[in-house]
Amino acid sequence: MTKHQLPSVETRLYINGEWVEGSKEKIPVTNPATGDVLTEIHQGAEAETEAAIAAAKKAFPTWSELPVTERAAYMNKLADLIEEDTNRLATIMTLEQGKPLTQAAGEIKSNVENLRWNAAQAQRVFGEIIPSPPTNQWQVRKQPVGVVGAITPWNFPSNMIIRKIAPGIAVGCTIVLKPAKETPLSALALMELFEKAEFPAGVVNIVLGDAKPIGKVLSESEDVAKITFTGSTNVGKILNQQASDSLKKVSLELGGHAPYIIFPDADLELAVDTLITTKFRNNGQVCVSPNRIFVHQDVKEEVTHLLVEKIQEVTVGDGMDDPTTGPLINQAGLDKVVAQLKDATEKGAKVLFGGQQLTEGEYQNGFFFQPTVLDEVTTDMDIYYEETFGPVIPLITFEDEDEVIKAANDTEFGLASYFFANNIQTIDKVSRGLDYGMVGVNDTAISNSATPFGGMKHSGFGRENGIYGVEEYVEVKFVNIRTAK
Ligand code: NAP
Repeated sequence: MTKHQLPSVETRLYINGEWVEGSKEKIPVTNPATGDVLTEIHQGAEAETEAAIAAAKKAFPTWSELPVTERAAYMNKLADLIEEDTNRLATIMTLEQGKPLTQAAGEIKSNVENLRWNAAQAQRVFGEIIPSPPTNQWQVRKQPVGVVGAITPWNFPSNMIIRKIAPGIAVGCTIVLKPAKETPLSALALMELFEKAEFPAGVVNIVLGDAKPIGKVLSESEDVAKITFTGSTNVGKILNQQASDSLKKVSLELGGHAPYIIFPDADLELAVDTLITTKFRNNGQVCVSPNRIFVHQDVKEEVTHLLVEKIQEVTVGDGMDDPTTGPLINQAGLDKVVAQLKDATEKGAKVLFGGQQLTEGEYQNGFFFQPTVLDEVTTDMDIYYEETFGPVIPLITFEDEDEVIKAANDTEFGLASYFFANNIQTIDKVSRGLDYGMVGVNDTAISNSATPFGGMKHSGFGRENGIYGVEEYVEVKFVNIRTAK
């Protein structure tokens, strides 16, 4: 007997406009809050991936040559269907992923915004006429790259998909998607809505199954023009290597280790409130989650006091009850947090709040961990350099600007960074000095349909969202037309 009823949702692969059973054994999808098996999904492998690529290739000429207004109409219809279906989509997401219902519904809302934004932007992917000699016309045209292979993670199991598909289909690409094994149902529920919106067969396909063979076929196929991946840095590197022989376009949204710096002139209430909201969003399982909290020594005592006071309001529980934060995704996720805590405390870090796994009562069958504040974190601790992906706030004290910029950049990652300050010189200097793709100043809202999202260094390359996100799906073609002798 499961605690919550899973809404009706497909469990098969969707290839060439048909729902098909996979050739491999089915696997269970589990609720991380209760341990309940929600359902079993079909699995395919190489053959299904090849079939999906063939379907996407077949659909490409017609889809890419549709008038852009028609592609936009399909997308807007899909946006409407997603909006109407928010409750079912959010419930499915909470049950398989664990995040609180309100956050799941917020993620669905961002899908709607992404689709509408990209449908509008598709109509503005302008080329150029470049000044040329009078005998010629120099044109720059933008054309869709072709078939796109998209591989997505479990932490935003719906929006990571739409963020990739929306700009792709807007410009005329067709898609083969491989979602994460922990959260296939959110992906399948979206596919149902693509079908309901009557997208032509083959424009969007989904393959489920073991990631390695599917990823290998997608990244090596000569029929796939681009790979777009969101996930860990290790897997991103593997895909980039596999894609190199066919010289396809690659976009990688990888891990992060965001610094969050509080300068002495900052609005401390705002800095602490924002830290708590941002850190406990999706229980810290976010690539842009604040992971190293640098606090100036002059305000350290006050910030620590505020933090320990406010963190007590954070509630932990089953996402269906809509607490502040839910469980971790699986045993490996929980083990990583436990190991980082153990390593840090053995090396001298002090637990100011939390620090324990939650195992009793309503928590007994889920992957729950207390919201945690850790002080006196130093460079010899794993947590200083490793992405945490859990509900831990590690505090580090600093003395001056140059020192903290250097420390913030002392990581292989370069995705999101944040700082709180009011002095304009500090804001200018620090925002220039941080080697990150995104910098939030007195704010952490860095993910929007209209603004470029992506990283530097080992956080990957390419951008999602905004006009930069759309450009990732087009080829630039120069056409030189001789019009006179
Ligand atoms: P992951 O293990 O890299 O998995 C991500 C996706 O890659 C899943 O679909 C997974 O499939 C697939 N995969 C695993 N091994 C593969 C292989 N050898 N070939 C092809 N695909 C493979 O990452 P995760 O643990 O799910 O996600 C967390 C990571 O994603 C964190 O590092 C986080 O920072 C990063 N992330 C980055 C962003 C960003 O925008 N930069 C956003 C969200 C998350 P299976 O699930 O079937 O194994």
